[in-house]
Amino acid sequence: MTQRTNEDQNLIAALELQLRQRDHAIGLLRETAFAVGSELDLDKVLQLIVDRARELISAETVLLPLLNPDCDEYTYRAGSGANIEEIVGESLPLDFGVCGWVWKHRRPWWRGVLSELSVQEKNLWEKEAGTLLLVPLVGRQHFLGGIAGLNKSGGGEFTENDLQLLELFAGQAAIAIENAMAMEGVELAKREAEQAQGELQRVNKRLSAVNQELEYLSLYDELTGLPNRSLFRDRVTKEIEQRGDDSAALLIVDIDRFQEINDTLGHEVGDELLRVAAGRFVKALDPADTISRMAGDEFAVLLTGADTQSAMTSARGLLAVLDQTLHLGGHEVAVTAGIGIALYPQHGRDISTLLKHADVAMLVAKRDKVGIHVFDDQRDAGGPGRFALVRDLREALDAEEFELYYQPKVELATSTITGVEALARWRRKDGAFVPPDMFISALEQTGLIQRFTWWALDTAMRQRIAWLKRRFDLRVAVNVPISVIMDSQFMPELSRLIERHGVHGGITIEITENVFFGDYDHLNAVLSQLQGFGIECSIDDFGTGHSSLSRLRQLPVAEIKIDRSFVMDMLQSKDDAVIVKSTIDLGQNLGLKVVAEGVENVQTLQQLYRLRCDSVQGFHIAKALPVAELEAFFAHSKWAVARLGDAESATVGKGGNGGN
Ligand code: C2E
Ligand code: CA
Ligand code: CA
Repeated sequence: MTQRTNEDQNLIAALELQLRQRDHAIGLLRETAFAVGSELDLDKVLQLIVDRARELISAETVLLPLLNPDCDEYTYRAGSGANIEEIVGESLPLDFGVCGWVWKHRRPWWRGVLSELSVQEKNLWEKEAGTLLLVPLVGRQHFLGGIAGLNKSGGGEFTENDLQLLELFAGQAAIAIENAMAMEGVELAKREAEQAQGELQRVNKRLSAVNQELEYLSLYDELTGLPNRSLFRDRVTKEIEQRGDDSAALLIVDIDRFQEINDTLGHEVGDELLRVAAGRFVKALDPADTISRMAGDEFAVLLTGADTQSAMTSARGLLAVLDQTLHLGGHEVAVTAGIGIALYPQHGRDISTLLKHADVAMLVAKRDKVGIHVFDDQRDAGGPGRFALVRDLREALDAEEFELYYQPKVELATSTITGVEALARWRRKDGAFVPPDMFISALEQTGLIQRFTWWALDTAMRQRIAWLKRRFDLRVAVNVPISVIMDSQFMPELSRLIERHGVHGGITIEITENVFFGDYDHLNAVLSQLQGFGIECSIDDFGTGHSSLSRLRQLPVAEIKIDRSFVMDMLQSKDDAVIVKSTIDLGQNLGLKVVAEGVENVQTLQQLYRLRCDSVQGFHIAKALPVAELEAFFAHSKWAVARLGDAESATVGKGGNGGN
């Protein structure tokens, strides 16, 4: 009885111990699950797992191998206990060792699996089977790896109970690992997004810097950093608007002999001179004043609130700073300037008038060598501004600064370039390109247009002959103002020119339409004579003037050119389309060739082809080009170029007997 009681008591004690152990294990599991679950940093989660697992199964060492993302290797990512330094961080092939067995079977390894192994495997692993536990970590989405326990603390083997505990634990650990991994992915994505955002901000910053730079370049002069002409005009206009009748002065400062300095000492010295001068001017002026570099060696200054006296004082100040010697590129350069002054409001109420009058005053200052001149309504109006232009144009003619460019005309029926229009270009000595509309009207106003036109006709005829010699049969059109044609010396002079070059036809003279109000009979006579010389007459800018086609019928005219303003808009504007179509129809009914100028795109070209227009000219084919570039264009163009037969070319350039 007593014996039995003792036995019972032993049993009860053992059971109680087991229960306590269970309780402890469950408590540990719960606690671990909580700790692990609330940690999101992957490395910390892994460390927590191995530490707790070691406690749970009383192992000397616990290791945590995880499969690599590519699933070609596994890596010991964490460890706890003895000798872990040797193994943590190590990567091994997927099928290596006990781990390989677990990955393959997705089941835990423990002593109990020995019976399932092949003899060979059994021999290999039997010795240590009891000292190793390895349970797989299976997440919701992926197979992750495993948790391995090595050597029971204090010797002995792992029990089935240890296995169950570790399996239970692994289920929770896997979820925690997966969460932490997902979190790591989120963090990574976040960092990448932040990086992209940063990059975007940098790009945006750069973009706005570029924009600013562009704006700067369009408003400021690159060389001196001063406002350029357009910003100056803008500022002065605003200033004037705000001032009402408050006085102001506009100064034009033009450096003397700048061109000479540029030519003799070089452009770099010229640039340096402008930079230094600009810097000195800025210092000499009041901060409230506006100074700008208008062009070349010309500066403009707006002095707000200034009258004649104070403007003169400021102007003297500007000349004085130039007076101090300049050292430029190893040279000592003496620099002087001329200054013209126009006053607001008495010399002009808008920027253009003020600039014009200050400009005139500046030219007077230079002509009279007085340094500074204030515009004088009585004496200066219409004066040396014109004078300067006449001088410039005359010099340009003397120095042969003009050049003819040629723009091809394509005959649509044959897709052939049958002619070119000669268009004049003028690059001034200072390098500035002057638009033809501008210098042509100046030439007309100054009476130099005669000389210019003879130069153009002479050059064009020469070119026609030069091309003929190379078998290009190109009709060359020259723009001749009606005033030149109507001059009594025109026909005699022209026949001499024709004689000299021996051109038999192949030349067209373009005259503008709005001329038909002059001496009609005389014009008729001249055009008839031209026809006799084989020179065709073309009516330019047709549609912009007042002549009617019925009136044209009575003139010996070969061709009309529909003004580019209609052609350029004919696809958008119904009105223009109607004008183009009816001009083609009526012109052709009168036996005239019809040319459309200003053809800028293929759609317009196609439409003109449909309308049976004879020829086209425009940027879509080519702009006006210098001879060499035009010939290069011929070589690669899809258009054929009109050529002479052998027999014809033999007679070219022999001098001549006039007509053909
Ligand atoms: P224009 O006689 O009507 O010459 C045609 C103008 O249209 C040229 O301008 C030419 O470059 C331009 N042009 C040609 N194709 C197109 C195009 O597809 N689109 C646009 N928007 N324009 C096109 P440019 O060369 O500036 O000449 C302007 C004017 O100056 C000429 O108009 C002509 O009246 C006059 N001009 C030019 N050279 C001479 C010349 O040697 N003597 C005379 N008296 N006047 C000339
Ligand atoms: Ca023309
Ligand atoms: Ca025209």
